[in-house]
Amino acid sequence: MISGYAQHGHGQKALEVFDEMRRRDFEMDDITFIGVISACTHAGLVDEGQRYFNMMVKDHHIDPTMEHYSCMVDLYSRAGMLEKAMDIINQMPFPAGSTVWQTVLAACRVHRNLELGKHTAEKLISLQPQDSAAYVLLSNIYAATGNWQERAKVRKLMDKRNVKKEAGYSWIEVKNKTYSFLAGDLSHPLSDRIYSKLEELSIVLKEAGYQPDTNYVLHDVEEEHKESILSQHSERLAIAFGLIATPPGTPIQIVKNLRVCGDCHTVIKLISMLEARDIVVRDSN
Ligand code: ZN
Repeated sequence: MISGYAQHGHGQKALEVFDEMRRRDFEMDDITFIGVISACTHAGLVDEGQRYFNMMVKDHHIDPTMEHYSCMVDLYSRAGMLEKAMDIINQMPFPAGSTVWQTVLAACRVHRNLELGKHTAEKLISLQPQDSAAYVLLSNIYAATGNWQERAKVRKLMDKRNVKKEAGYSWIEVKNKTYSFLAGDLSHPLSDRIYSKLEELSIVLKEAGYQPDTNYVLHDVEEEHKESILSQHSERLAIAFGLIATPPGTPIQIVKNLRVCGDCHTVIKLISMLEARDIVVRDSN
């Protein structure tokens, strides 16, 4: 129950269940504390998270595992306290795995920390030489700082190791049939109508005060494509199709294989408001 509440963003509820366990003197194990610390993470309760971690070690004599350290890194990363997150990594009795570095990388994107982002991307490349995201990110960081030589080196390394960037797909189900969309996809029979819907939306969005955010430096999006494909990211095509293929008021549900970019997130919230639709987008994170 603690983990369930934590995962669904009900941090306080999770902590109430934990308190009840304590009142009833139930035995706590390492899993209990993973639940409690992630509850604090999702509720932004940094001090409490640290307190429960200490309680686990000192009062319950549980040795922290990689998962506990991961939780602590996540706790500090999400709160933007990247130095603290790095302290945890440096104090861990074992080397950080790729999950831990991915957590830090995600926070570097959100909190726009180029220096640490670079360090983290390099770590990830050494741990997962076939993961394209870290290479693209590193090359975008070099591009943003005008370091073209280093950028070219990263590109060459990608070619040499034959690393391919995974294509972004979004799926939507309408009347028991699943439709998939690639960025800039023209293959759907209703393509014309989908693009005119997007065109129509972009006018309303601008009237509502929206400005495209092309700052992709800390996203794993190819630099050269960022502007041209921004309005054609696969989830937007899927949503436009959902809007024309379902009656007004029907909720729209999308699944995407990669992470949704910050600009799409903003746009989708506005579309939800302007079109009076509930829109649920589940991405790889
Ligand atoms: Zn996007």
